[in-house]
Amino acid sequence: MNAGDNRLEAWLPRSLLNLPLGSAIPSAGFEGLSPVRLHWRNGHLLAPEPLPDHVDPPEWLVLPRLAEPHVHLDKAFTWASNPNLAGTYEGAMSANRLEHSTRTRAGVLERGDRALHLACSHGLRALRTHIDSVGPGATASWDALVELRERWSGLLDLQLVALVPVSHWSSPEGIALAQRVADVGGLLGGVIGPPYRQRPLRRDLQVLLQLAERSGCGLDLHIDEASVEPAIGLVQLLKLLDQQQVDVPITCSHLSSLGLVPVAEQQRLCERMAEHRVQVVALPLTNAWLLGRRAGTTPITRPLAPIRGLQRAGVRVAVGCDNVADPWFPAGCFDSVALMASCLTLAQLAPWQRLGLAPFTTASAALMDLAWDGVIAEGAPADLLVLKAGSWSEALMRPSQRRILISGQWWNTQAS
Ligand SMILES: [Zn+2]
Repeated sequence: MNAGDNRLEAWLPRSLLNLPLGSAIPSAGFEGLSPVRLHWRNGHLLAPEPLPDHVDPPEWLVLPRLAEPHVHLDKAFTWASNPNLAGTYEGAMSANRLEHSTRTRAGVLERGDRALHLACSHGLRALRTHIDSVGPGATASWDALVELRERWSGLLDLQLVALVPVSHWSSPEGIALAQRVADVGGLLGGVIGPPYRQRPLRRDLQVLLQLAERSGCGLDLHIDEASVEPAIGLVQLLKLLDQQQVDVPITCSHLSSLGLVPVAEQQRLCERMAEHRVQVVALPLTNAWLLGRRAGTTPITRPLAPIRGLQRAGVRVAVGCDNVADPWFPAGCFDSVALMASCLTLAQLAPWQRLGLAPFTTASAALMDLAWDGVIAEGAPADLLVLKAGSWSEALMRPSQRRILISGQWWNTQAS
């Protein structure tokens, strides 16, 4: 492929291909990949053409540029200055608190910009970031991330979520924060985890739901990120949703301890979530690193959102990378393809299955309410992530050479 090319022959997951009516059914290999020829003009795709069986198999695998539903850009790359060597949730919290007390606008700008450059060069088109929004570093973080959103607009969509203890939304400062978040088109978030005090929690959550509704902001909660007291936060949320109508989108991030609830009860909770259109972002990497720790043992049971059960009940589930090189998780690189490789083992999600691929593609785009669903079709944006791989296995066995097409132009990683 050359810089001026406006066509590509590549393998495309069959579940992401939408052909014009009357087209021949394309062939698909054992991993559900179909060989297609893509053309684009003026930033949009022309009708995809299935390739006949007798042509040479393509050397590339193509995906839509991907949407990352859950990161923390404000604290990315702070592991070196604020490590959490014990790898515990409590250790992460105290290292995070220390880092937050010295956080500056310039620091968030520099680290956030580095993160977005990586994200774009790995083929992301949108990210939702949570932002620590109480304490000394809150204003600096918001100022920097609003500026970065502006700086990267046209290349990346950035969604901003205010992360606070859920009780904060009941205070005058919380109400003022909600107004500021609404003014910049952000979302309201919060942390709901053990130890749970159920009555005050329900009261705080009720206030938050009303505030979200009044301000028109979507909700994205860090909820039940734990290996004890399974799904207590979710049960309280569902009780409230049984009583009051909420029209703004609600996302439960983590929901790890729901995976520890006995299957029949778990399925009932999943069905109630589907009824209330509550969506989920599963975060296998951080959960597997932080949760279920007992000194001197290797964990066998891993708290994780029950992705398959949620999907079966009709809940929309996306998968995100969460933390990158911060006190909560020491690795990561804003690369959804690397995340897919990790999820083979962590969640047994296989991208050659429709429901194994959707959490990284169409479901994450829908959960983030993006204009493009990520399906490759005539008229779709010419926004592609192209991997040098002839199969899923090749794409996932190591970091692949890749090219990024944005609005019909090949993106030059070095020059940006
Ligand atoms: Zn998070």
